[in-house]
Amino acid sequence: MNMYNLITKTKKGIPLSKEEIYWMVNGYVDNAIPDYQMSAWMMAVCFKSLTETETLHLTHAMMDSGDKLDNSVIGTSVCDKHSTGGVGDKTTIVVAPVAAACGVKMIKMSGRGLGHTGGTIDKFESIPGFRTSLTFEEFVDIVKKTGFTVVSQSGNLVPADKKMYALRDTTATVNSIPLICSSIMSKKLALGADSIVLDVKAGSGAFMKTKEDALALAELMVKIAKGSHKKCRALVTDMNEPLGDCVGNALEIIEATEILKGKKKGRLYDLCIELSAQIIDLDLNTGLDNARKMAEHAVESGRALELFSQTVKLHGGDTGFIDDYTVISNAQRSYDVFSTSEGYISQIDSEKIGMVSLELGAGRKVMGSSIDHSAGVVLCKHIGDHVKCYEKIMTLYTSGDCDLTEISHAAGDAVKYGREKPETTNIVYNIVE
Ligand code: URA
Repeated sequence: MNMYNLITKTKKGIPLSKEEIYWMVNGYVDNAIPDYQMSAWMMAVCFKSLTETETLHLTHAMMDSGDKLDNSVIGTSVCDKHSTGGVGDKTTIVVAPVAAACGVKMIKMSGRGLGHTGGTIDKFESIPGFRTSLTFEEFVDIVKKTGFTVVSQSGNLVPADKKMYALRDTTATVNSIPLICSSIMSKKLALGADSIVLDVKAGSGAFMKTKEDALALAELMVKIAKGSHKKCRALVTDMNEPLGDCVGNALEIIEATEILKGKKKGRLYDLCIELSAQIIDLDLNTGLDNARKMAEHAVESGRALELFSQTVKLHGGDTGFIDDYTVISNAQRSYDVFSTSEGYISQIDSEKIGMVSLELGAGRKVMGSSIDHSAGVVLCKHIGDHVKCYEKIMTLYTSGDCDLTEISHAAGDAVKYGREKPETTNIVYNIVE
């Protein structure tokens, strides 16, 4: 086998065999195949795509490139939830304790934020003392006690994706459905969960800008999961405006806590209940209507909040913020942003709000840089709300020395107004199984 021939085959749309794909992935991880040949192959994939069978082999070859987690010590089925990334997406913080309260065991291995999208690990780390870097024994112990844990990715899991993703990032080859699918699913499969619920975001703040592309990605990921003998469902959901009111690490923990306290309803709550219900039904076979009721009861009864608090404590976190948000919401500066026109809000560009949050210090421009957990944006208006000219639409928070006036212009720019009230859209577009 040689890489030149494999690039040529993919360029001509001729499918590669399982052996060829394994040879290529292993050769790349072992440095036998150079970056320039791998990037040429991935560019060919961007133009010619891969068959479903090739994507399955690519996913498995990537998964097999490193360690795999053996969850059998937990003694029961284990679930995983994955979001393809968005702005203000704090659903895991709610869904994990809600599902746990209904009897599901969930190990959530999450990433840190990069660019305009946030990372669940950064959100949890805004809780003083919360440790996300745990040994296998430590997190298994937490799952056994409370039903869920959230840990940062460690060990030698899917080294092929680490190399390939870094290369895609610099060679304009991120945006390919089979490459995104194999990148995400190889990591999900290596974590060993029995059932997987995927939240595939569609819209301005997401990888997939259109519903059609998001649906195609969702369908392919479900096929790959099933082809790997896992139970899997995918929800295609709206990311055309930030999810909920808050964007930024501590701010999102507070908003999620409000939902767990049963104090906050709306689109974010609805999505959290739907994702929880899908997980409960997929794992425990309860029937969906029943699962929705169980999820709602987990919030109303306070059981989900109780498990959330216990899990925070077991991770070493200070639970004081649950009763006193100032423990984590302590930004030194704030700045209100006002509407520039009268009318109905027709657009709040999530990607732009994500970039604003990044400039305020809530995110990372380069991997490994430190972040300001107190920074972010709180929206007080949403798409469809009517505003007068010069009405407050959001507040910016930071503890850094960024130029708030300049950032406020970018924030104001993310919001568009119209004379007609826009049609309301369902937050869940499709469910794929
Ligand atoms: N998330 C991933 O892990 N990989 C991708 O390719 C895109 C999003």
